[in-house]
Amino acid sequence: MTIQKNQTTAAGAQPSALIIGGGVIGCAAAYELGKAGFRCTVLDKGGLAQEASTAAAGMLGAQVETHQPGPFYEMCRASQRMYTEWTDELEQASGISVQYRAEGILRAALTAEDEQELRSRLAWIREAEWLEPSEMLRLESELSPDIHGGLHLPADHQVQPVWLAEALKAALVNQGCRIREWTPAIRLLSEPGTGRVTGVQTSEGPLYADLTVLAAGAWTPALTEPIGLSLPMFPVKGQCISVRTDAPLIRSTVFTKGCYIVPKLDGSYIIGASQLEAGFDKRIHVQTIAELHAKAVELLPRMAEAEFVRTWAGLRPGTRDALPFLGVWDEAPGLVFATGQYRNGILLAPVTGRIVKQLALSEQPFLDLAPYAPSRVLKAATATI
Ligand SMILES: Cc1cc2nc3c(=O)[nH]c(=O)nc-3n(C[C@H](O)[C@H](O)[C@H](O)COP(=O)(O)OP(=O)(O)OC[C@H]3O[C@@H](n4cnc5c(N)ncnc54)[C@H](O)[C@@H]3O)c2cc1C
Repeated sequence: MTIQKNQTTAAGAQPSALIIGGGVIGCAAAYELGKAGFRCTVLDKGGLAQEASTAAAGMLGAQVETHQPGPFYEMCRASQRMYTEWTDELEQASGISVQYRAEGILRAALTAEDEQELRSRLAWIREAEWLEPSEMLRLESELSPDIHGGLHLPADHQVQPVWLAEALKAALVNQGCRIREWTPAIRLLSEPGTGRVTGVQTSEGPLYADLTVLAAGAWTPALTEPIGLSLPMFPVKGQCISVRTDAPLIRSTVFTKGCYIVPKLDGSYIIGASQLEAGFDKRIHVQTIAELHAKAVELLPRMAEAEFVRTWAGLRPGTRDALPFLGVWDEAPGLVFATGQYRNGILLAPVTGRIVKQLALSEQPFLDLAPYAPSRVLKAATATI
């Protein structure tokens, strides 16, 4: 993509970028663009990272979250490999720890059917081994003796998303990025004739930039509809509970069908997460929380003794084909799409930031972006006519 300076950017001045959405995806994009010399402004309708990004459990689950081989699995693995270097640098830039934990995930089967499905993944999944029940219990002795064994996924680490978001924000401030919270983008601004996106109309007036990055999570379609691109995206509500126990019960994240338990460095555990398409409703339902807790007790019986800390809900940016929208669209030059990371936005933050930077600098992206092209929607629509 060729960055065309708009009339507000003087010749020789740094190029400017406007990032719509201050979740981990928008902040990761701004961070990489800032390092590449762009003058960035991050715009959010609320406070930075108050939506899906801080509702997340923080698993970097390339192995546990993918159910088939292919480009998406490879993208998840690429981001996973980038993570320690990316967070080490981010911690240096911000002075904030993201609370990285490298103990891995045990994906336990509680039924014969689940065991069969998990064993079938061994044909293509990398960095995984099957453990019999006694081997699982040797690693995590508090697991239920009723488990049928499971997958040991040593490369699926975790961070604390709240601290990741804080670190990104501090790093952006230190870079000199302008952060405009409580400033919703109302519509994209474009040049008549060429369709080139030149910025956004906000609640505070127009903002112009050489490059605009669309990272508005589940809210993205409201911004693309007016430019003729109807993105099949929708919010998928996830509810979680946080609990504590007197003594630590597990070191690894333990995960089974319908529930995971992620131990955090502060001694708490995140039990997650439900999955429901319910529009933009973030209410917490007692029954859902009770079911999650019951499932956690089935997997880790001593969770029955846990002390309740809090509950919350977040809206994952879902897409119909479960793939993100990452790349550019010929009809709207000057606009980069970085959205729809669904269940894996924490994991995919480094890879997304890097690809946005490569597109902004007109470099060849290090991954093939064809599966994630925003225009695939138009092709799908034409195919069904
Ligand atoms: C319960 C739960 C558990 C999860 N667990 C994990 C996990 O373990 N690992 C993992 O990798 N992922 C996980 N995820 C998924 C992950 O949280 C998301 O994929 C990721 O946060 C998406 O980031 P984002 O920046 O695109 O979206 P968001 O964090 O939702 O950010 C979008 C931002 O855009 C802003 N915005 C929207 N519209 C406008 C507008 N018009 N103008 C200005 N700003 C706007 C919003 O206010 C928001 O701040 C989980 C999600 C949930 C809900």
